[in-house]
Parts: sequence; structure tokens; C-alpha cells
Amino acid sequence: MATVAPVKVPAPQIRQTNCFIGGNWVPSASGKTFDTVNPATEEVICQVAEGDKADIDAAVDAARDQFDHGDWSRMDARDRGILMNKLADLIEAEIDELAALETLDNGKPISDARTADLPLVVDCLRYYAGWADKIEGTTIPVRGDYLCYTRREPVGVVGQIIPWNFPALMAAWKWGPALAAGCTIVMKPAEQTPLTCLRMARLAQKAGIPDGVINVVPGYGPTAGAALVEHPDVDKIAFTGELATAKIIQRAAAESMKRLTFELGGKSPNVIFADADLDAAIEGAHFALYFNQGQCCCAGSRLFVQDSIHGEVVDRIADYNRSHPVGDPFDPDTKQGPQVDQAQFDKIMQYVEYGKQDGASCVTGGNRVGDRGYYVEPTLFTGVTDDMRIARDEIFGPVLSVLKFSDVDELVERANNTNFGLAAAVWTRDVAKAHRFAAKVRAGTVWVNCYDVFDAAAPFGGFKESGIGRELGEAGLAAYTESKTVTLAL
Ligand code: NAD
Repeated sequence: MATVAPVKVPAPQIRQTNCFIGGNWVPSASGKTFDTVNPATEEVICQVAEGDKADIDAAVDAARDQFDHGDWSRMDARDRGILMNKLADLIEAEIDELAALETLDNGKPISDARTADLPLVVDCLRYYAGWADKIEGTTIPVRGDYLCYTRREPVGVVGQIIPWNFPALMAAWKWGPALAAGCTIVMKPAEQTPLTCLRMARLAQKAGIPDGVINVVPGYGPTAGAALVEHPDVDKIAFTGELATAKIIQRAAAESMKRLTFELGGKSPNVIFADADLDAAIEGAHFALYFNQGQCCCAGSRLFVQDSIHGEVVDRIADYNRSHPVGDPFDPDTKQGPQVDQAQFDKIMQYVEYGKQDGASCVTGGNRVGDRGYYVEPTLFTGVTDDMRIARDEIFGPVLSVLKFSDVDELVERANNTNFGLAAAVWTRDVAKAHRFAAKVRAGTVWVNCYDVFDAAAPFGGFKESGIGRELGEAGLAAYTESKTVTLAL
């Protein structure tokens, strides 16, 4: 991960706390609000409009009206791209303040928000702006005297539901392809982290993206989220979050045959062979799990280490953990901030207990840091076996499980012994071994001698219960289009 010179962080201004519907900033119809909390201090940052069914109905109406009668899906595609680039430019111009807002609401270190999250937001929007005028159909050589061709059309009104771990980036991953395709959007941000999404909507309006194209309704999942999923006028739901929530959504959306894409959780295997560049592998394995407080869907949470180097790898990761700067996320030297909320904190501490109960050894961490804020020590378990709860379940926190292996064939089987299939990584100097592992592992992304390398052009998504469909790249765009076949008698 690149590092930058420390900066003086501007105090983030809270400018938007209402729903953004049809270009207007409006309180929720019920007048209700909810608190969004600073995870570093446990203090309330502000109250945000608590949208529910009535607000979702109004937002879907605005999105439908814009899609059916407005100019977004009809304007020259190149002009859509120009407006998207303008949004990217405005975000880039406010990158420091947006990063600070993200840190305030989510607790992630400001240096990560500035060098990772927000630059990736800008890059994603620019990447998809470039696609806007390159969405092409094909001509098809059918039998007979006909001209047959396909058109790729926007899927329509899309409901987008995102989690709290990368609030701005998840919004960009969803807005980028939807906007390029000409769709209109109703987004429900996570209740823990609504602030950057609302600020980005303000910048979209400033960029000149027409009213009704992007609508944002903050609120809770079982109310606002469920209303969006059940709405008959929504053509597609794009969801990122937990597997259990995805299953509820899949059942609810069956009624209206909505298009669905899911980006879900993981329990990703990260494999270090004895022939790896150990300096790079150990630093990479540490980053793979502890980045973003361990709250990454693709976290390398099952670290498989070949037996001959096991001791060295464990010792060196433990050393990293003991000197890992955990603390105030606004301190530019901090590498690990607080977990996002009390519920996450409690869940992580419960898994630390499970690890101990199931017989693993807690080499570092396992405790709370300080008495204010949801901080957890970087935690490392060894002696972990495949059946333990810490090796099977997604913990979504700074808890690394190290598993030993000796036999390479058995390793692949063990790596695949999970219902998830989001990501995997392998560290080795043997290129053929790396390719063999990449071919055999059941995961949507495989990193070789690196981890968490993301690019807007490279598709990302899960095998098995880690999701359906792909985000990013051309595949991510395709999920926001319908293909129409036109046949003309000549
Ligand atoms: P979550 O499923 O609890 O919440 C995600 C979103 O769904 C929130 O906006 C929430 O309000 C909403 N929601 C909750 N119940 C709902 C319902 N009944 N109907 C409609 N919407 C509802 O997940 P989370 O705890 O916010 O996020 C963590 C999860 O997200 C982890 O499993 C993580 O792996 C996953 N994730 C996946 C990716 C990916 O790209 N694969 C990226 C980031 C996070």
C-alpha cells in the first residue's frame, strides 16, 4: 500500500443529512431520524433522516420518471460520460474532506481513506465514464434474408444497497456502471455510514447529472432496504453485504423477477509456500487481513503456511502486530482504527472466545484497546484446524487464523473447503505452481505474490456463496444492460 506524506486534515463539514429524492433534499416522510456514530469516540456525529417505505416510494417514482421521461438514458452517450467525469473531478477536488468524512463515520485510518478509498472512487467513475459511449451491440449472421442485430439497453431503475466497510467506494462501484449504461438509481447506504454517499450525491447534482438520476434514501435494512427490494417498479437490485441478507433479498425479489447481483462475504485462503519471497509474503499476509480493521470481504483470513516456514512466519506476523499502530484514525500514522460499531466489536470478541474454546493458541491480541471506541488488538491465532469456527466463519475483524500445511494436493482441497469463493492468494517463486493453484482454487479473484490489488477494469465477484455476478470491468457494466435482438426482413 502506498504511503503519503502526513497532511493536516480539514474538519469535515456535515452538509447533507436528509434524503436526496428527485434532486431535492427532504426529511423522511415520517420525520424520523437515526444517529450516526463516530466509532472512535462512540459519540453521535449527527442525526440522519430515517427513510422507510414512503421515502423509497417517492425515490423510485423520481427514478422511474427520469428513466421513462427524462433525458438521462436518451442523451448522447458521450455527454453522459462527460457528466460522470465532471462528478469524478468534483470528488477529486474535495478528496481531503471526503476522506475525513469517511474516517469520521467509519473509523478507517485517514491515510487509507486518502490514498486508497477516495482515489479508487475517482478512478472507478472515470473508468465507467469512458464506457458510456462504447456500449455496443453486434450484428448476427442468421439464416435467411434478414438483418439481425442486438442493442444493449439500460436495465432501468436500479435499487442499490451497500454496506459500511467501504462506504464511498461501494457507492462508486455501483453508480459507475449504472450511470454509464443510462440507468437511474435509488441507493440505500448502510445505516452505520450514510454521510459520504449523501455528500457524493450533492456533488453529482453540482456536476449537472439530472435530477432523479441518483436518489439516496438513508435508513435501515429491514424497512428502507426491504421496501426497495419489494418495489414493483424497480428493475434490478444490486446488493453488497452479508450472505444472510442476500438470501432474504433473493426470496423477496422472486415475486417481481428482478435482476439481481450479489457481492457477499468471504473466508479467503492466503497460501505461503516455503519457496516464497518471505519478506513480501509476510508483509502481504499482514496487510491482507489487517487492512481496513479486517473489515474486507476479501480479507485473507485463512493463512495457510507450509510447515517448514511456519515458525518464522508466525513470529514475524506477531512482531508486526505488536508494533502495529492502533488508535485515533485521524492520526496520519495510524494503521488500524476502531471497528465500525458495537455490534461488530461484540461479534469479533465472541470469535476470539470461540478460537480459545476450540483449542487454537492466541499468540497476539484478543483484547479491547482503551476504554472508548470500538478498538480491537490485532489478533493472531495459531494451531487452527479447518473445522474451528474461526476458520469457517467470516469474522470481519482483525483476527488472523494460521493453518499449517505440508501436502500441496491436500492444500487445494482445504483451501476450497468453504462455502465462500470470493478471493484467494498464493505466494511462491514457482510460476507453474502459482498457475496450478490459480486454476484449481474456487474463487472469483486470485492474487499471486500480491494482495488486494483492485482496478476498476478488473472484474470482481464471488464463486459459490460469495455472490452472483461481477462488479467492475466490462462484466460489471453488462449487469446494468439488457440485450435486445432486432430482426428485420430484407
Ligand atoms: P448487511 O447485509 O448487514 O448490510 C448490508 C446492507 O443491506 C445495509 O445497507 C443494510 O441496511 C441492508 N439490509 C439489511 N437487511 C436488509 C433487508 N432485509 N433488505 C434489504 N436490505 C437490507 O452487511 P454489512 O454488515 O453492512 O456488510 C458486511 C458484509 O458485506 C460482509 O459479509 C462483507 O463480506 C460484505 N461485503 C462484500 C463485498 C464484496 O464486494 N463482495 C464488499 C464489501 C462488503
